[in-house]
Amino acid sequence: MATTSTLRVVKSVSAVRAVIATWRAAGETVAFAPTMGNLHAGHMSLAALGAQAARRVVMSIFVNPTQFGPNEDFAAYPRTLAADEALVAATGTVDLLFVPDAAEIYPFGLEQAVRVQLPALSRELDGASRPGHFDGVATVVCRLLNIVTPDILFLGQKDYQQFVLMQRMIADLRLPLELRMGPTLREPDGLALSSRNRYLDASERKQAPALQAALAKVREQLLAGSRDFAQLTAGARAALEHAGFRPDYVEIRRQGDLGQADPQRAEPRIVLGAARLGRTRLIDNLFVD
Ligand code: AMP
Repeated sequence: MATTSTLRVVKSVSAVRAVIATWRAAGETVAFAPTMGNLHAGHMSLAALGAQAARRVVMSIFVNPTQFGPNEDFAAYPRTLAADEALVAATGTVDLLFVPDAAEIYPFGLEQAVRVQLPALSRELDGASRPGHFDGVATVVCRLLNIVTPDILFLGQKDYQQFVLMQRMIADLRLPLELRMGPTLREPDGLALSSRNRYLDASERKQAPALQAALAKVREQLLAGSRDFAQLTAGARAALEHAGFRPDYVEIRRQGDLGQADPQRAEPRIVLGAARLGRTRLIDNLFVD
């Protein structure tokens, strides 16, 4: 269990390694929560889980260029480092905050970078709308894991496809660490906390909980015994359109590996959705067991 300690903020790989080495020499365990910053309570909940599970907690803030497509929001992505640092310091769960610049993570440049290529699941669901996104995530997470060398990595359920793909990468590349998932933190009206919520204007913000509500309705119908997946997901897409969204997908998949769910089998499922509201793309998912 981590005790409240003074936050160290470092920018270089060598500084991270030096701090971790002193912890290792003292026999201390390390949890890690990577983020892209603009921190909210969801991010901090992963740090809190880390503090319960390990003696030391590392958080990183890095807006990773390789996971954004050419027409995506890399340049506009909210960068609020001073507020993030203040929040992390005030919360007291993080021992080391790693805030590298791109040259520190990609020393040979983006064009010449060694990249991780994920299997086919990375091109489905969110990967169908965002080509190359998950390979970019894997490329940065692999680097961060090699720098931080945590015992336990914490990722959020909100990005469930990311969680499953990172689980696969860790197993396939034999990375020596444990992966754990933190639950999705939400606003009181059900909207999942997300850095991208700040793109929403006032009227979009009012509509935004409709994504969670549409998925919750599918979940209810599944729990009530409905087995016509196509009808359920079409209903959710129609509800999203009615609320002013442009849906990318709503799907019912198997929990665990995100394989195609079999309507005839009693198996843990997950309903996932992604939709655009104005210029903002929101994602969410709910477990159905
Ligand atoms: P991001 O900064 O969006 O890359 O997210 C960093 C980590 O925080 C990822 O593991 C996310 O899944 C997790 N995360 C994002 N939103 C939430 C949330 N609302 N609740 C819990 N974890 C979250």
